[in-house]
Amino acid sequence: FASSELQHTPTIIDVGGVQIGGKEIVVMAGPCAIENEKDFVDTAISVKKSGAKILRGGAFKPRSSPYAFQGLEEDGLKIMVAGREATGLKLVTEVVDTRDVELVNKYTDIFQIGARNMQNFRLLSEVGMTRKPVLLKRGLSATIEEWLMAAEYIIAEGNHEVILCERGIRTFETMTRNTLDLSAIPAIKDVSHLPVVVDPSHATGNWKYVPALAKGAVATGADGLIIEVHPNPPSALCDGPQSLRPERFESLMDELRLVAQAI
Ligand code: PEP
Ligand code: MN
Repeated sequence: FASSELQHTPTIIDVGGVQIGGKEIVVMAGPCAIENEKDFVDTAISVKKSGAKILRGGAFKPRSSPYAFQGLEEDGLKIMVAGREATGLKLVTEVVDTRDVELVNKYTDIFQIGARNMQNFRLLSEVGMTRKPVLLKRGLSATIEEWLMAAEYIIAEGNHEVILCERGIRTFETMTRNTLDLSAIPAIKDVSHLPVVVDPSHATGNWKYVPALAKGAVATGADGLIIEVHPNPPSALCDGPQSLRPERFESLMDELRLVAQAI
């Protein structure tokens, strides 16, 4: 169960030696979408050098418009593996359809369930039947209770390796893409043993605000972060405005170490 009533100790998820929910803050970084092998591998090498432990990238992109770039699909997954081979970083990538779970399972180290699919119960059950960690993003307008019940769908199939990801929720505010709910972190820690990771990129939609919220997330008890990094954000096929350049990501990692030391 996701509830801490029956399990009092925090769940630590081991992804090939990287522990999520333990003492260290785990940073996942990479582009929103995989675009080509060279850019992806270069980005992978750079974020690894800065201290990221897990490489993110989308091969299946659930875009708001059906006419927007939808991802490279299996070719993208193969490029991700090239990134893993070049760096040793573990992979996290989104699966959007029950029909693709088997395929994505062949390549990834962590499944990502996107905000738009948080209550796609068939998809949750399907990844629950695998034995691979699942990063479960909070739905656009989901309460913490609904989010934990979604985690329960995965756990109910026997997969206990669920990582919750706060990525901002819909509010009346329009200055940021979403509103990052930092209070979700202590609130979840109060009722659940599952690790919590924060995505300041999708929460703000603006790279300028990403460092401040990333530091805030660490200060409020997040177990990790997932951050979009792109070598040339203006040319990104997806989410350029919220992507950090590799140099800014590197300096953010230094700032995060200071915050982690201070708490
Ligand atoms: C993503 O991580 O690229 C993504 C689509 O995120 P979300 O599901 O939170 O919108
Ligand atoms: Mn994105």
